[in-house]
This record gives sequence, C-alpha cells and structure tokens, in this order.
Amino acid sequence: MKGIGADGEYWAALAQGKLKMQRCDGCGHWNWPAVWRCGECGSWEQSWHEVEPRGRIYSWTRSWYDFGAPRDLPVPYVSVVVELDGAGGKRLLGTLDTSDLEPAIGQRVSARPRADEFEGEPLLSLRWSPDHSTLAVGEGR
Ligand SMILES: [Zn+2]
Repeated sequence: MKGIGADGEYWAALAQGKLKMQRCDGCGHWNWPAVWRCGECGSWEQSWHEVEPRGRIYSWTRSWYDFGAPRDLPVPYVSVVVELDGAGGKRLLGTLDTSDLEPAIGQRVSARPRADEFEGEPLLSLRWSPDHSTLAVGEGR
C-alpha cells in the first residue's frame, strides 16, 4: 500500500493494527489529510508517528440506511468524527462500536483498527467505543 499517495503510510499502519499520523519535520505541524509538502512551512520532510487512537467526539451522525457499512454493524449505526488527543487536534472519521450508545459531542472514545471487506476489496477503518480508562472528573454515567 505504500506509495499510493501521501497517506500511504496511514493505510499501511492501519493494516498492521496501528494508527500513525503525519507530522512535519520542518515545523512540527501535524498534517491531515497527509501532504507531500507542508502547507505551514514548505518543508518536503514529513514523518509518521504512532499515535494512541484516543480522543473526543467532535461530531456524529446516525445512519438509517446501510451504505455498504461493515456487516457486523446493524442499522442504524453511528459515524463519528473524532478529534485525536495526540496529533495536534487532527480529526478522523470512523464508526461507533454500538448503536445502543447515545453519542455526545466531547465524549471520550478510543478506537481499534478494523479490516473488513467491501465488494471484494479490503476496507480498513477505525471502530470507536467509549473510553472509560481516561474519564475525567464529572464525566461518565
Ligand atoms: Zn512544516
């Protein structure tokens, strides 16, 4: 998968069950979507860093139609945009592990990479679930 595009390392890492995000060697800015050249400082030197798949729900939506979703997800399912803790606030898309959960903006979540198949092609994604290990005071239920 390496060499497909600027984000090739992201997909290669996800296939190995890891989350890696791109950071500029020139200025330290986290770049996502991945770039060949940093828009902040112009450097061509970008490197990939393993990041904990943890963060907060920035936005979410519930889908009542199966747009080719992974088969283990019943309809309705919830898609989330998560702001990562460890990558300069960059946001990633994924699905919630359970449709029973009532998601909330700001809710803490963690993810595990998944490998599914869609129309005969591998489909890599992040599956998010509530992160109880990092609950702050006053959070939880
Ligand atoms: Zn830079």
